[in-house]
Amino acid sequence: MPRPIEALIHIPALAHNLARARACAPDAKVWAVVKANAYGHGIANAFEGLRAADGFALLDLDEAKVLRELGWRGPILLLEGCFEMRDLELCSRLKLWHAVHCEQQIDWLAMHKTHEPHRVFLKLNSGMNRLGFTPSAFRAAWNRLNALPQVDEISLMTHFSDADSERLGADGIAHQLEAFEAVAADLPGERSLSNSAAILRHSARVRSDWVRAGIMSYGGIPDFPEHDQAFWDLRPAMTLRSKLIATQQLQPGDTVGYGSSFTADKAMRIGIVACGYADGYPRHAGSGTPVLVDGRRTATVGRVSMDMLAVDLDGQPEAGFGSEVTLWGQGPRGSVLPIDEVARAAGTIGYELMCAPTRRVPVTALHQD
Ligand SMILES: *Cc1c(COP(=O)(O)O)cnc(C)c1O
Repeated sequence: MPRPIEALIHIPALAHNLARARACAPDAKVWAVVKANAYGHGIANAFEGLRAADGFALLDLDEAKVLRELGWRGPILLLEGCFEMRDLELCSRLKLWHAVHCEQQIDWLAMHKTHEPHRVFLKLNSGMNRLGFTPSAFRAAWNRLNALPQVDEISLMTHFSDADSERLGADGIAHQLEAFEAVAADLPGERSLSNSAAILRHSARVRSDWVRAGIMSYGGIPDFPEHDQAFWDLRPAMTLRSKLIATQQLQPGDTVGYGSSFTADKAMRIGIVACGYADGYPRHAGSGTPVLVDGRRTATVGRVSMDMLAVDLDGQPEAGFGSEVTLWGQGPRGSVLPIDEVARAAGTIGYELMCAPTRRVPVTALHQD
């Protein structure tokens, strides 16, 4: 028998979540963001669940190739644009649209020989200070692109750093929105601003011709714990599950796992789960991290080790060898353990956990609920 751990990808949940993005931004076209192997869900699975999107946005040229091989003929956007001049040939050949965020990328375009002018998304650094032209350099970049025969249509994009919170005053996006509107006001072209958090929280104020739905497509909550899956009506698209492969009866004073970080203060039974950090489960998840056993909520005890972790079976006398354990996602009988709750207990975010399952975890797509 193979080791019982596996990841399940729920195709109907992907479709549902995409429909939620559309409902939030009904006037916009939707990029399904499928970078990082579709946030760990697999490009082919994401393609199946998200094919109602208007386009797919990603970073890796190899992933773009896979999408074309899967038969997608619609728009594909390279969110970071080209990494070297040669990439432009692939853009021409596969008809990829690409971000332009720096002068170097314009230089390459100017030297590129193509019969098919490119659609580009000129990126403004509106305050996040990762990629993009500063407001003072933006118009000159637009003029340069506009003069190139290699360029067909220029769209405008920027990215919010704080759309998920109100840290930066009014609503986290006001200063970036202002910066964008100031430079983009009298430029033609389609606009792409919103990520998931902005789609969910700010669609009434942000005019986006194209929204970029990443984490919400997978059922992750960008503004957890302020809001949860029920509030935004999103469904987990990934389940990580395994089984109990042993149980132990502890007496008061007994400890669990490496470093003896957990000490029983009473007699208790624990289960040992075939899942550890080498499967992508976060080692930083300390005792008390939520977990489902047979669909019922309990908590981890002790340190996560490479291949195993322990769970409290108190109150679950019927649980034992072979019981199903849901590390995150959808459990038996309609139970759900939001990935964001596990992430929070581990001091990280759902995004990171989704990308974490390792190669030794087999992935199965489920085509029905
Ligand atoms: C990853 C990414 C997104 C998607 O962000 P989510 O928070 O996952 O919705 C949108 N835009 C850009 C430029 C990105 O890199």
